[in-house]
Amino acid sequence: MIQKPRGTQDIYEQKSKQYNALEKTIIDVLKTYNLNEIRTPIFEAKELFVRSVGETSDVVSKEMYEFLDKKGREFVLRPEGTAPVVRSLIENKLYAQEYLPLKLYYVGPMFRYERPQTGRYRQFEQIGVELLGVDSVYQDLEIIGMLDSIVQALKISTQVELDINYLVTGEQRQIYIQALKKYLLTFNDLCADCTIRIQKNPLRALDCKIDAKKFNACPQMADYLTPSDQARMQMILSAAQKIGLKTNINQNLVRGLDYYTGLIFELKYLSKSLGSQSTIIAGGRYNDLVEDLNGPALPAIGFAMGVERLIWILEENQINLGHDDALDLYFIVINQQAMESTLELMRDLRNHGFKVELDFLNRSLKSNFKQAEKNHAKNIIVLGDKEIQTQTLIVKNQITNTQTEIAMTDLTKFMKAGQ
Ligand code: ATP
Ligand code: MG
Repeated sequence: MIQKPRGTQDIYEQKSKQYNALEKTIIDVLKTYNLNEIRTPIFEAKELFVRSVGETSDVVSKEMYEFLDKKGREFVLRPEGTAPVVRSLIENKLYAQEYLPLKLYYVGPMFRYERPQTGRYRQFEQIGVELLGVDSVYQDLEIIGMLDSIVQALKISTQVELDINYLVTGEQRQIYIQALKKYLLTFNDLCADCTIRIQKNPLRALDCKIDAKKFNACPQMADYLTPSDQARMQMILSAAQKIGLKTNINQNLVRGLDYYTGLIFELKYLSKSLGSQSTIIAGGRYNDLVEDLNGPALPAIGFAMGVERLIWILEENQINLGHDDALDLYFIVINQQAMESTLELMRDLRNHGFKVELDFLNRSLKSNFKQAEKNHAKNIIVLGDKEIQTQTLIVKNQITNTQTEIAMTDLTKFMKAGQ
């Protein structure tokens, strides 16, 4: 038997309904913020991620699915969504004034070669948001508001907390990094990765899964912020608290990707059940990335959420997002001669937006009623000899437990009246 690759999933039945409901709920929220969807390829040039996410990040150094195409070009299955959006913006010149500010969201699979665990897969889905063209504290606040709107819509706002930090920007960044490097060099027991990071990218050490806990006494980023950055951070913190999100400053939060500047955040699930997979939404400001990828100087902020982790949380808390997937009408055809005219009736109903179903497997009457129940059918019609002769139908309403006899030609009209 051929099996699915390790760390991937088949999503069907109840679970696929849950994915649909979750995506719809979140996208509906994003649309209230006037965001539009962007779709980019699932594979991209490897260089795109090396130059943006960063060579020393775990994602690029260990987790990418890389392949050569038939002409020997280096591609990867995309591990994240921000770099492709920025690539697309530059390639399509979406930075022209007429498009700005760009307010985009994307939905789709990402690929990372990681050890599979609960909430950690090799193919997983992200819904991401990227706002480009504005550098304003009020937009930072709007993003925090968006996070709150999302967790409200998902009914999990009391189950999460927001960790925020502010990465040193501009000239102060180099000064901080030098101080951090000096501090890190005082250790002689760091992991092999951190030993390299000290030289290549000391900030990365703060994100190390092995060593990070040793760095309690490291130089504090807050001490290196410019006064205006400090004021901005304070404003964000108090606004987040006003919104009602439980918010903490986490000085050692640096995030796993290299391109962040200024505000960064992680929204975490409070319960311990997801272990080290408790971060469900993560992001921040990346004002330099567009320029770093040879585009114009264009400020930006964004975040991505892990759909599998959100699904897990909904399941653990038995949250039903309340999308109605019930059938409007289930047909049971006893006399096969009625099949064609039933299909005709169904086509008309479907053209009017009704969700209807008919059994093609010649099930018994009893098992057909079971199927109708499984599909939460609101109405059932049984079609036999009598119905064909008299051209009438009996609609059994399963909710009110009533029956109505109508002319066959009146079915759609009858269903519309009952809406
Ligand atoms: P982690 O520390 O858990 O590895 P990360 O910092 O690598 O996360 P990001 O690159 O910021 O994650 O991705 C944003 C979100 O995407 C994460 O917060 C998480 O919800 C989700 N995510 C990341 N990697 C995976 C994965 N392998 N499987 C499922 N979801 C993931
Ligand atoms: Mg990771």
